[in-house]
Amino acid sequence: MSRLVVISNRLPFSLRRGEQPGEYELIPSSGGLVSALSSYIERRRKEEPDFECVWMGWPGAAVEPEHQANVRERAMREHGAYPVYLDESETDAFYHGFCNSTLWPIFHYFPSYAQYSEEQWQTYQRVNQTFCSAAMDLIRPGDVIWVHDYQLLLLPKLLRDGGINERLGFFLHVPFPSYEVFRLLPTRWRRELLEGMLGADLVGFHTHDYTQYFLRSVYRTLGHEHQFGEIAMGAELRRAETFPIGIDFERFMQAASSPAVTALVEQIERGLQGRRAIFSVDRLDYSKGLLHRLRGFETFLQTHPEERGRVVFILVVVPSRAEVTHYRRMKHELDELVGQINGAYGSVDWVPILYQYRSLDFEELVALYRLAPIALITPLRDGMNLVAKEYLASKPDGTGVLILSEMAGAARELGEALLINPNHRQEIAEALHEAVRLDPEEQVRRNRPMQERLQRYDARRWVTNFLDSLERVRGRQGRLATHHLAGAMRKALLDRYRAARRRLVLLDYDGTLVPFAARPELANPDAALLELIARLAGDPHNRVFIISGRDRHTLERWFAGVPLALIAEHGAWLKDRGRDWSQLKPLTSEWKEHLAPLLQLYVDRVPGSLLEQKDHSLAWHYRRADPELGAGRAKELMDELVGYTANFDVQVLEGKKVVEVRNAGVNKGAAALACLSLVEPDFVLAAGDDQTDEDLFRALPRSAYTVRVGIPHSHAAYHLKDHLEVRALLAALGAAGEGTG
Ligand code: UDP
Repeated sequence: MSRLVVISNRLPFSLRRGEQPGEYELIPSSGGLVSALSSYIERRRKEEPDFECVWMGWPGAAVEPEHQANVRERAMREHGAYPVYLDESETDAFYHGFCNSTLWPIFHYFPSYAQYSEEQWQTYQRVNQTFCSAAMDLIRPGDVIWVHDYQLLLLPKLLRDGGINERLGFFLHVPFPSYEVFRLLPTRWRRELLEGMLGADLVGFHTHDYTQYFLRSVYRTLGHEHQFGEIAMGAELRRAETFPIGIDFERFMQAASSPAVTALVEQIERGLQGRRAIFSVDRLDYSKGLLHRLRGFETFLQTHPEERGRVVFILVVVPSRAEVTHYRRMKHELDELVGQINGAYGSVDWVPILYQYRSLDFEELVALYRLAPIALITPLRDGMNLVAKEYLASKPDGTGVLILSEMAGAARELGEALLINPNHRQEIAEALHEAVRLDPEEQVRRNRPMQERLQRYDARRWVTNFLDSLERVRGRQGRLATHHLAGAMRKALLDRYRAARRRLVLLDYDGTLVPFAARPELANPDAALLELIARLAGDPHNRVFIISGRDRHTLERWFAGVPLALIAEHGAWLKDRGRDWSQLKPLTSEWKEHLAPLLQLYVDRVPGSLLEQKDHSLAWHYRRADPELGAGRAKELMDELVGYTANFDVQVLEGKKVVEVRNAGVNKGAAALACLSLVEPDFVLAAGDDQTDEDLFRALPRSAYTVRVGIPHSHAAYHLKDHLEVRALLAALGAAGEGTG
C-alpha cells in the first residue's frame, strides 16, 4: 500500500496561538486543492481502507521551538498534516518576497510589478531547502510524492539530489508564461527553477498552452528537446502534461438545493427588491482585473441608462497579501472607484455596487452563486479560476449567464460562456448587455454541456488522472531502464566478449566517444581516448572501426598510428588497417555544386551556423546558432532539399543539430554490412548516438550488442547515458580481453 505525500506551501489549516504559551488552535481552511484532494481521499479510502495521505506544509504561523514537536504530533493525529516550521524572518522574504513579488507577477504577465532581489532569491532557495529537509524526514520507501505550486519550484530536484527515488509529481497551479516573459528572470534563476521542476517525473499544468510554454522554456533554457511532452534529459525521461483541475461538482450542486442555502437565497433576494444581481468574488489581486471589471460595469451603466436601477453588482473581494505594496495600492484604487461609480450613478433608493471586502462562508458563497443571474469574472490572467466553475455547479436549474475572461485557464473548458477580453471596457459592457437579454432557454442550452463536463471531469478525476499518468511515466522509465547496459547485462556482454575470437566493434565518434564541441573541428580525441582505442584495437582478436559522418582527412589525422579501421562520411569511404581509402560504392558528387549555394544561403540566414563540405556530402551545422531559429530553419531546409532529391541521387538526413545531404544508398547500415562480410565476427558491438546510427543498428544481426548513447528510444537493444559510460565499457572490454589469449 502506498502513501500519498502532498507537499504545498500552506497546510490546509491555520495555526492560531491560544491564550497560554504552547496553546495552539488548528483552524481548517479550504481551497481548490484541499477540496480536490479530500474528495479523492474519501473515495480512495472506501476502496482501500488503509490508504494514507499526509499533507506537508507551512502552518501559517511561527511555533516556539519547544512546542514544535507537540504541535506536529497533534497536527498529524488530527489532520494527517506534517507542519514545516519556517523562521519568522524568512517567511516574509519568502512568501511576500520572491513568491509574490517576483514569481507571481512574472507568471501572471505583470513584469513591471516584478522585483529582482538576489537576497529574496536566496531566501527562496533556503526555504525550499527547509521543505526538502522536512520532507526527507517524512518520506518512506514506496510513497508517492506530489509537490504543488510556484512556491516550491526547486523542491523536486532538491529531493532527487537528496536521494529520494520515489514517484514524484509536480503541479503548477498558476499560468506558466510564454518564454518571452519567463526569460525576464535572470539566467541563473530561470535555469534553476526549470531544473528544480524537472526533478519530478511528471510536471502538470492546467492548460495546453502552459504546458507548451513550459516545454519551450525548457528547450530554450536547458536545451532539452521533447516529443509529445516526453522530455529527454540525457538518459532520463520526464513528462509534462495538461490536467485542468476540476471542482467537487456534487458538493456545490447539492449545497445549492439545500434548505440552508435556499433560506439564504430568499433572504438576500428580499433585500435586492427584484433587481437583477451581477456577482463576482475573488481575492484582492491585480491579476483578477477588478478595476477593469468596474470600468466595464460603469460603461454598461453609461451606455444603457435603461438598466440603471434594474441591476445590482455584488462585488465580493476577499482580503489577500495586504503586506505587498501593489496590493495595498490596488485596494485603495478599488475603494475609490467603487465610491466614484456609486456616487455618479446611484440614487436615494439604489446603490449600483454592493461592495464587500471580506471572505464568505461556504453557504453564503453558494447562495450568491445560485441567486445571481449573471457572474462577471474578468481576470487579466488566471491559472484556472475555480469561481467560474463553481458558479456553474451551483445552478441546479441550469440558468445563469457566465461572463468569463478568455485569459482564465478555465475559459479553455468553458467555451459556451460569454468569453470576453477584459482589457476592453466596451466588450465587458456589451457582454453585460447581452447577458441581461439572454433568454432562460438559451442560458440552459449553453450551461448544460458545461455542467456535464464539470461533473465528468471533477476534482477526483483530476487527482486520479494525474496519479495514473505519474504511474505511466514511471512504468516507461522502468521499461527503458531494463535496457540500460549495466549490471547482469553488462556482465553477460563481457563474458561473451571473452569467449569470442573474431570480435567486431563499430564505434560512432561524435557524441559517442567524445562530447559535442561548439565547432566540429574542436572535438578531437584526447590522449586517454586514443589510448583506450589503441588498447582495444591492439587485441589480435578485435577489429575496431570508427564509423563516422566525419570527412576522411580529419579521421585519418586524428587516429594516425592507431591500428583500427576508419569509415568516413557515413559509409562513403573505408580505410582498413594499413590500407588506403577506398569507396564502398562508386559515387558521383556533381550534385554538390548545385546544392552548396542553397545551403550557403542558410548559413547567411542563421548566424552561428556553418557549412561543412565533404567529398560526398554537404552538412549544414547549427549547433552554435540560436536553438529555435536553427531548428526552425532546419525544417525549412529539409523541406526545400526534398524537392532536389527527385533530380539527384541524394538523400537528406537530419542529425543532431545538423542537416546533411549525401549520396543515396550511403549509410552506416550499408557500411556495417561491408564490415560484417570483411570480419565474419562471432561477437559484434556497435555504439552510436544519433539518427544516422539507427541505420547501423537496424542492419546488424539480432545477436549484436547495439547501444544507443543518450536517449533511450531506439532500434538498439541497449543504451548508455553518455560518452563517459561508453568509455568505461570500452575500458572494461580492454581489460576483459587481456588474458583471453
Ligand atoms: N473562496 C473562499 N472564500 C471566499 C470566497 C471564495 O475560499 O470567501 C474560494 C472559492 O470558492 C474558490 C477559491 O476561493 O474555490 C478561489 O479560487 P480561484 O481559482 O477562483 O482563484 P485563486 O484565489 O486561487 O486565484
